[in-house]
Amino acid sequence: MLLNDRVCIITGAASARGIGKATARLFASHGARVAVLDLDAGQAEAAARDIGPGHIGLACNVTDRAACSTAAEEIIGRLGRIDVLVNNAGITQPLKIMEIGPENYDAVTDVNLRGTLYMSQAVIPAMRGQGSGAIVCMSSVSAQRGGGIFGGPHYSAAKGGVLGLAKAMARELGPDGVRVNSVTPGLIKTDITGGKLTPELKVEIAKGIPLGRLGVADDVANACLFLASDLSTYITGAVIDVNGGMLIH
Ligand code: NAD
Repeated sequence: MLLNDRVCIITGAASARGIGKATARLFASHGARVAVLDLDAGQAEAAARDIGPGHIGLACNVTDRAACSTAAEEIIGRLGRIDVLVNNAGITQPLKIMEIGPENYDAVTDVNLRGTLYMSQAVIPAMRGQGSGAIVCMSSVSAQRGGGIFGGPHYSAAKGGVLGLAKAMARELGPDGVRVNSVTPGLIKTDITGGKLTPELKVEIAKGIPLGRLGVADDVANACLFLASDLSTYITGAVIDVNGGMLIH
């Protein structure tokens, strides 16, 4: 049990086959009390029920600063504290550079980057007050290799921004006992690609991965568990690649 009685918030955790839900389930199995946040209250509540008793599901659009604060306050009111935040909510779009319109740029940077900022700001006062906390930010191999798999350049930019934001938070919050780290998944089999990755393309992509397969949500959840738990107490500002060797640097 690596997270006994820790209160853990995971954003974007209602998606049935998503990284967030897999992380929520894994954290719960390690004794955590989990707050599942997602756009739809009913789906967030259903996901929380699905991982077991004692967890909560709340509607929270991470692009809305007030909604992030309200969610954090409700979680403190109901579960008493906040030990871990996984900034997992994200969207992507398979666009080429000249296809990116203002609305595409806004949507992708808002959820991935602004959402990471707002949700972190919502939990930092509680973590500072406790003198402890762990924040895990979901970036992507797209940030490191300049996309080229599914997400467009705006997605690479947003996820690159997440890495910078996480490192800066790690530097600023270290003296308060709060650790901030990032995970950079490769291609993980979830619903984020909206069925647009054909089986043929998946086979082609797997050929370029030394471990010979696409990732699964649990591969990423395991890295989040490490970064959320006391196994990583001397690790902050780090970036953990979970990509099967797709990018080795
Ligand atoms: P997913 O689509 O299964 O889950 C994303 C979740 O985020 C959904 O439940 C969605 O409702 C939620 N969400 C979207 N906008 C939101 C908002 N404004 N506020 C709150 N929640 C919101 O996708 P996934 O593949 O599990 O992705 C999880 C994270 O991992 C994302 O940040 C994604 O960019 C990142 N990632 C995924 C892959 C991959 O190959 N699947 C690779 C690298 C990084």
